[in-house]
Amino acid sequence: MKFELAERVKSLPPYLFARIDEMKAEALKRGKDLIDISIGDPDIPTPVHIVEAMKKAVEKPEHHRYPSYEGMLAYREAVAGWYKRRFGVELDPQTEVLSLIGSKEGIGHISLAFVNPGDLVLCPSPGYPVYSIGTLFADGEPYYMPLTEESNFLPDLKAIPESVLQRAKMMFLNYPNNPTAQVATEEFFREVIEVAHKYNIIVCHDAAYSEIYYEGRKPISFMQIEGAKEVGVEFHSLSKTYNMTGWRIGFVVGNREVIKGLGKIKTNLDSGVFQAIQEASVVALNTEESILDEIRSTYQQRRDILYEGLKSIGLEVFKPEATFYFWVKVPKGYTSEEFTIHLLEKAGVLGTPGNGFGTPGEGYIRFALTAPVERIEEAVQRIRESL
Ligand SMILES: *Cc1c(COP(=O)(O)O)cnc(C)c1O
Repeated sequence: MKFELAERVKSLPPYLFARIDEMKAEALKRGKDLIDISIGDPDIPTPVHIVEAMKKAVEKPEHHRYPSYEGMLAYREAVAGWYKRRFGVELDPQTEVLSLIGSKEGIGHISLAFVNPGDLVLCPSPGYPVYSIGTLFADGEPYYMPLTEESNFLPDLKAIPESVLQRAKMMFLNYPNNPTAQVATEEFFREVIEVAHKYNIIVCHDAAYSEIYYEGRKPISFMQIEGAKEVGVEFHSLSKTYNMTGWRIGFVVGNREVIKGLGKIKTNLDSGVFQAIQEASVVALNTEESILDEIRSTYQQRRDILYEGLKSIGLEVFKPEATFYFWVKVPKGYTSEEFTIHLLEKAGVLGTPGNGFGTPGEGYIRFALTAPVERIEEAVQRIRESL
């Protein structure tokens, strides 16, 4: 038998990390001591009080049945409470909050609710690949908005042709940004709302990294800006804030029509998040700030060491204000992929080639602060020696 893949799968962009993955596997097989700072997956465990809450919750038989697709009211209320405390934003837990099986699930599905074949979806490039892949799965067409150093890694909305804006159905944005580590300004968000209003574009802001920040400089929420709720939604995740990437829980808040649309897709596709996880997540969302401050200070220590280290080597690097990423220019004479391979082969350090996040990422490599301080120091030392 021969099973033909569907066109939407066959036409997926080539998986740029496949070659790197292969080389990584090969290096590990040879017994090489690899420092992997390529992946945005925290190495720090979930805080103990959340794990304890999960242990208790998992024993309750009422949680063993199907959950509702939209999430327990207690979970949605905890989300609304968190938004109020953190951002001063009021949300109706019944209509303006929806649970997600990780924010990736909602980001990947939302196009199915709103995008018709041929509609354009504005996606940042470099960017989290799910924005454009979700678009393609809904037979929409991604239109890439380049994030460049010249525009502070914010899309230049004025550079988008009028004809594109007229055909655009949605716009994805992500600040604090993966992979560039840039944060957004109120002024930029106001401009986004103006454009969205004028051209009837749904704004989907991904705020997965809003709680990974340094020196107490808290990033803003899109929802804080006047008019945001009329034009869009904000996706959020417990993954990065509470080191819960394996638990699979997130949420989306904001415009009730957009939430309702995504809900229609979800109710037909999935059966919600395991209620025990939701119950533990209520505890997570009420975590004392001191615990989160400790996690942030761990990242800050790593950030400072990587920043000073890379700078002392002579690499062009800026100090991130938020996220656990570094977006570093590769030295002259290398492409992103060549430099990534050079570091893997000659230093045993694994980063992510910037072009894997989109063409404008060419010339960059991304490092993640997801390894202990000693390993980051060692990585810097080995990169120095390899150059
Ligand atoms: C990690 C990440 C997410 C979160 O994914 P989950 O599915 O909630 O674990 C979302 N957006 C971006 C940009 C990310 O890097």
